[in-house]
Amino acid sequence: MHNFLKFSMVATMILAAASSDGAEKLFTDGSDVSLSIVNHASFALKTPSVTILADPVGGGDKFKSFGSPDIILITDIHGDHMEPGTLKALADEKTTIVAPQAVVDKLPEDLKKKALVLANGEVKSKSGIKIEALPMYNLTPERAQYHSKGRGNGYVLTIDKKRIYISGDTEDIPEMRKLKDIDVAFVCMNLPYTMTVQQAASAVKEFKPRVVYPYHYRGSDIDQFKKEIGTEAGVEVRNRDWYVK
Ligand SMILES: [Zn+2]
Repeated sequence: MHNFLKFSMVATMILAAASSDGAEKLFTDGSDVSLSIVNHASFALKTPSVTILADPVGGGDKFKSFGSPDIILITDIHGDHMEPGTLKALADEKTTIVAPQAVVDKLPEDLKKKALVLANGEVKSKSGIKIEALPMYNLTPERAQYHSKGRGNGYVLTIDKKRIYISGDTEDIPEMRKLKDIDVAFVCMNLPYTMTVQQAASAVKEFKPRVVYPYHYRGSDIDQFKKEIGTEAGVEVRNRDWYVK
């Protein structure tokens, strides 16, 4: 019995690490949230009852296998985060598009009706998931043109008591550094649009999420990011290939 239990636990862990559809479990303690990486800033989070798409772009077909989305999170107006054609293909009667006003302003009328606007600092709940909007912006004067404070949203989702941070396109802003109790963080890094690997690592070492996935990192050295994080802060760095397709 004992050995069988051990065997089934090991088998479960192996299955969790590599399910056939490419999804991976975010947690190992029973909170059932799986991550499917699509590309660059686009990914899906699934619980047994809720499907969330983050910044889906590149056509609806890339996301169809996840099923009908309950929530689509959009961080910003740029084409690598929001694309009305992809949203049209994906949003159905049950879908809520959570986005800042600047994004909603650019949506066609039928999609505007599905929108839930969140400004920086606002908190709302949808499908049992708490969604908090955070600022995302550039700090470096030469990069200020890319993301002005107040336009886009980062998000903290609370799912099954776990807190998941999605940075959006930002530098190492104080609002990120001050975050507390983040279980999993998705943190951007790429120049000239967001920040360096060193800035990202420095912020992560300060807010100490339990796990960090570098994402939106095109052209950046994520191995260097992992090195900069080191082991002292106790942050698990999960480097994945977000640019396979
Ligand atoms: Zn971007």
